Amino acid sequence: MEKLTIVVPAFNEEEVLTSSIERLLAIENRVIAKHVLNQTSDILIVDDGSKDKTWAEIEQLHQKHDRVRGLKFSRNFGHQNALIAGLTEAVHTADIMITIDADLQDDPDKIEDMVAKHLAGADIVYGVRNNRDTDTWFKRTTAQGYYKFLGMLGVNLIPNHADFRLMSKRAVNTFLEYKERNVFIRGLVPKLGYPSAEVDYKRTPRMAGESKYPLKKMLAFAWDGITSLTIAPVRLILILGALSMVLATGMSIYTVAVHLLGLTVRGWSSLMISLWFMGGLQMVSLGVIGEYIGKMTNEVKHRPRYTVQSRIGDRASNTYSFS
Ligand code: UDP
Ligand code: MG
Repeated sequence: MEKLTIVVPAFNEEEVLTSSIERLLAIENRVIAKHVLNQTSDILIVDDGSKDKTWAEIEQLHQKHDRVRGLKFSRNFGHQNALIAGLTEAVHTADIMITIDADLQDDPDKIEDMVAKHLAGADIVYGVRNNRDTDTWFKRTTAQGYYKFLGMLGVNLIPNHADFRLMSKRAVNTFLEYKERNVFIRGLVPKLGYPSAEVDYKRTPRMAGESKYPLKKMLAFAWDGITSLTIAPVRLILILGALSMVLATGMSIYTVAVHLLGLTVRGWSSLMISLWFMGGLQMVSLGVIGEYIGKMTNEVKHRPRYTVQSRIGDRASNTYSFS
């Protein structure tokens, strides 16, 4: 029987963490009791530099259930890095890993279905939400527009899938070979190519607390998604540049013609327009190229993705009791 580790990123989740973990444990125990999972299956919480009582709750949870383990970052490194840290840690001992948000907006009752699909041959099982009515109108439209845009740039994502996902040991090991610092996990996993399956679920509203993804973080995340997965924007600049060259050639012919007709002074407006247009185009182009150079600078530095400050629960131990 395979050992499952459920990986839960948590940033300032004191309001929901304990009840979420109790619920996850109950679900995991149910699957263990059916002899589908190894009884050492556990839960690994990654505290992404929380400022509230999240870590204290993790300690208490570990006291109560030694199958609950924790990693604590030295500061906030972001959701994606928390997931990577959890997978990096879990892959040492687990055969399968499931990532799920601490607020359990993604239906944890689907974990059993995910495991079943894995046992039927899938290395990766994507949780796919079949509704978006818990999102605000703003989030829904921007998210849909964003994914459509990414698709146009040639990035293939699983529609309506976020980070609720099962991965086998070999899928995680392959995923961890992708060493980039700017990670957009949901864009990389489909690139692994292993057999995959999907599980549908209905996403529910957050039980308590508020979203840990304010607009600023979400925009940064969205931009990372584009720039870490495709160089299409730089190509777009090339096309824009070529187009404006064509435009400029047309303008030149027009200018010469006007000159030959003796109407030279009249060219002021077209001059101003093309001046502003070209200036703007150049600024935007430099900006996009600069963004990629900035990303490259960060990649080249090869800094660690995160720093683990403390941990709780023993990775090597296989003697967890089944409680
Ligand atoms: N999260 C994290 N680090 C961050 C922001 C969020 O680990 O910097 C975690 C958070 O605790 C939660 C998950 O990522 O488990 C998703 O966050 P949230 O539910 O707030 O996002 P939303 O559902 O609003 O998109
Ligand atoms: Mg949430």
